[in-house]
Amino acid sequence: MSRSVYLNGDFIPVEEAKVSIFDRGLLFADSVYEVMGVLDGKLVDFDGHVQRLELSLNKLDMPMPLSRDEILGVQHELIRQNGLHEGLVYMQVTRGTAERDFAYGEGMTQTVFMFHQQKDLEQTTAARVGAKMLSVPDIRWDRRDIKTTGLLAQVLAKQAAKQAGCAEALMVMKDGTVSEGGSSSFYFIKDDVVVTRPISNDILAGITRHALLQLAETTDFRIVERSFSLDEVLAADEAFITAASTMVCPIIEIDERRVGGGQPGPLTKKLREIYFKNARETSV
Ligand code: PLP
Repeated sequence: MSRSVYLNGDFIPVEEAKVSIFDRGLLFADSVYEVMGVLDGKLVDFDGHVQRLELSLNKLDMPMPLSRDEILGVQHELIRQNGLHEGLVYMQVTRGTAERDFAYGEGMTQTVFMFHQQKDLEQTTAARVGAKMLSVPDIRWDRRDIKTTGLLAQVLAKQAAKQAGCAEALMVMKDGTVSEGGSSSFYFIKDDVVVTRPISNDILAGITRHALLQLAETTDFRIVERSFSLDEVLAADEAFITAASTMVCPIIEIDERRVGGGQPGPLTKKLREIYFKNARETSV
């Protein structure tokens, strides 16, 4: 059976899904995207992702092409047609197609597409034994709060990480502070306190981060949102990342130096358990 994807109102076989070479998403990365996790065929943190999509679009002067319920309907149909049990649903909205010009006109017809990816989220090797990171300079633009498809800095960062045998890059800003992972929010734990960078234009406001911090508040976890250096991280007891595609993933090594005991830490494991339980209870 061919993979079924959604493009501009239609569910079609992936081989038939074509967009114009004049699409501004292709020419200028003038587009935004979202990635949502799927557990047991249901969408995780769905409303958070839709709200961030709208925020990203608004910051780029683009409207929402579909309502929350319409997006939910399309994603459910994609999950159904492709028999997806566990994995991801990707969604992208571009400003649309026009003669090539940096400035854009009014009333453009947006390009909207969505597809699924099968992926294990719960039973993963990284969750069991932990993942490694490589630190790289954060060379991105200043509006990291917008989830655009202008991702070349992250492509280079994550490729460098991969070539060093690591699963993820850890991005360090010019001032020496850690911003986030290549495609994840980053945290370390020291003396039972979870530390993560506060939300600003320096990082993407992770939806998994938001859900996890809300949950942690209801337990006795202590969370501090502040800037921190790589040296501080290397002296931590535990470290982990979060993203829709990895949920809560323990980090055991950075730049070939062990974090804590070099094994997934107990508090990270607990947070992963709490997150998954809530994700299953609140998925739609
Ligand atoms: N930070 C960056 C740069 C990302 O690309 C991502 C996800 O792709 C995240 C953080 C985590 O965001 P979320 O939890 O919404 O997946």
